[in-house]
Amino acid sequence: MLQSISKSLAALVVGVVLGGCHSNAQTAQSADPLSEYHGLYTPSNTEEFQTSMHTNHPDYDWGVWGHNLAKLVKDEATDDMYAIVDGKRSSKQFCFSSQSLYNKVREYVLDQYGWGTADYSERISIMPMDNKTVCTCNDCTARGNTSTNATPAVTAFVERLAEEFPRHKFFTSAYHTTNTPPTTSLAANVGTFVSSIKLPMRVDFTKTEGYNEFVQNVKAWRKQCSRIYVWDYERNYDDYLSPFPCLLAMQARFRLYRDLGVQGVFVNGSGDDYSAFDDMQTYVLALLLDNPDTDVHESIARYYREHYPQTADLLTTYYWGLEQRAQSTNHLLPLYGSMQEMCESYLDVKEFVSFRSQLDKASKLTVGDERKRLNALLTALAYTQLEMYRTGLLAKDEETIGEMREILKGHSELKGMNNRDESGHSIDDYLKKWE
Ligand SMILES: [Zn+2]
Repeated sequence: MLQSISKSLAALVVGVVLGGCHSNAQTAQSADPLSEYHGLYTPSNTEEFQTSMHTNHPDYDWGVWGHNLAKLVKDEATDDMYAIVDGKRSSKQFCFSSQSLYNKVREYVLDQYGWGTADYSERISIMPMDNKTVCTCNDCTARGNTSTNATPAVTAFVERLAEEFPRHKFFTSAYHTTNTPPTTSLAANVGTFVSSIKLPMRVDFTKTEGYNEFVQNVKAWRKQCSRIYVWDYERNYDDYLSPFPCLLAMQARFRLYRDLGVQGVFVNGSGDDYSAFDDMQTYVLALLLDNPDTDVHESIARYYREHYPQTADLLTTYYWGLEQRAQSTNHLLPLYGSMQEMCESYLDVKEFVSFRSQLDKASKLTVGDERKRLNALLTALAYTQLEMYRTGLLAKDEETIGEMREILKGHSELKGMNNRDESGHSIDDYLKKWE
């Protein structure tokens, strides 16, 4: 899942020129929980929004992001930068004991960002390639690597960079082969992303095994690392266009992170792709990152009153109804889910059809920005309704199906509405299947 955030190196470099991050690497230890990084990878987290809501965005504030180490070395990779897996050289993973790999990264950091200054530091992410292979060459094994644990060599690599560049911040990840915490304390300018993937996406997760595992993992990492960020999730990655009432679940997660002393959160949404209700959800998530005790219902209502003056009541009532259902049933919100699963969890077919139709009627009386926003939302929701027909949740009705297809065709005129999921399946291909 992490690989979905693979931005081109060019974009990262541009991002750094535009944004950079200006904070002192040495001050973070005393920072309040959740005060250091509010990353939202959503289409509504624009540059303007970042400024007004003090959010972060990976395109703007990372020198090297996620698994982009591979892109950094790609053209100049030499054999010895790659791992030994099952006794053989494999270009699917790095050897973090490789001097050539270290030199390449060192040279890149120096070229692009220099040594940093008292008030300028860059965030550099060093993670293995996104798979479960580990280098077990003699050097990595001597550091402590096993066929399932890459933490020793990766940590040593990151520590070496952190020592050489004390003004920059270096991040590793507690994920897959680096899930096991290091056995020694990491430098003050080293941080870790702990993935929350084990923490079930439901409003009350406290009685689950995943919750215990996540909490234990964060606590174990905190013993050795003063800067913990959580890599979090807030979308159905199989369907960006249908409603996903994640806000009360996210509130519960952010409260937990705060209580665990986590300093930053990166919330992986739909990236640059349009997703239903994202404008409101991004706004509320930004408020929750500032203060996890923010009143979610009040924030939703306020957002809609401001941006959808004519249809605020309709939108707030419907969306809040979904959140309340997710809360009262405490059903799992599927991060990868079909229409069937969304309907088992929180969507009610009849209620949805009625809402979509009322919103469509009401939208015709709106003007300006509200009308534009509703046009995009209704286009996305036409996909939801088509999925209900396709999966047999709604009885076939050729006339309405034709109408929904016409509405969905309008996607081509809307910014960012080309894909319907994380894998990049296009709406155009979907529409062709209906022909
Ligand atoms: Zn190695």
